[in-house]
Amino acid sequence: MKIAKPLTNLIDSFQKLPGIGPKTAQRLSYYLLHVPQSELDNFSNALSRVKKDTKLCGICRNISEDDPCPICEDNSREKITITVVEQPLDILSFEKTGKYDGVYHVLHGAINPLDNIGPDELYIEDLIGRAEKNKIKEIIIATNPTMEGEVTAMYITKRLRESVPANGDVFIITRLGRGIPTGATLEFADEATLIQAMEGRRSL
Ligand SMILES: [Zn+2]
Repeated sequence: MKIAKPLTNLIDSFQKLPGIGPKTAQRLSYYLLHVPQSELDNFSNALSRVKKDTKLCGICRNISEDDPCPICEDNSREKITITVVEQPLDILSFEKTGKYDGVYHVLHGAINPLDNIGPDELYIEDLIGRAEKNKIKEIIIATNPTMEGEVTAMYITKRLRESVPANGDVFIITRLGRGIPTGATLEFADEATLIQAMEGRRSL
């Protein structure tokens, strides 16, 4: 049987998403035929606006409607503490703990030679720039405890140590403590684990 063209188009689009194979793509596409047209219109509108209506914060590279983002704009937050995360979603994990009042820096990935992601593909130099230009007390490296996350943490530490003594400011670089299982990602860590990892952070 030949599948109708509008359906194959949709199936092909779903299949491009991470974690969605051909079967799931087919199931989702056929499912949508049962959804009221108004909901489909809302869905397609949300889809087409998600990139147009958001931007990267010029300071921390978080995804936001405004530049700077609300966290960087918030005067009650401690600008002298920066937590470095791989993904914008990791910020949500920290915010949910309600225990962190510093700011963030989003790398948008981790160094991964197998995927051709080197330091230049990430927002590492922006972080070095922030550390050079601003008064910083602590940089908490909260990349994931995976091989890529560890390599990235080491690279950032090295770059910070090379660059920042130049402006005479001294800050400490720390890494999240144990608690998050090796190989896991922050996105899936529960709040208690994350608080524990924050409290148990160690100097690099
Ligand atoms: Zn920001």
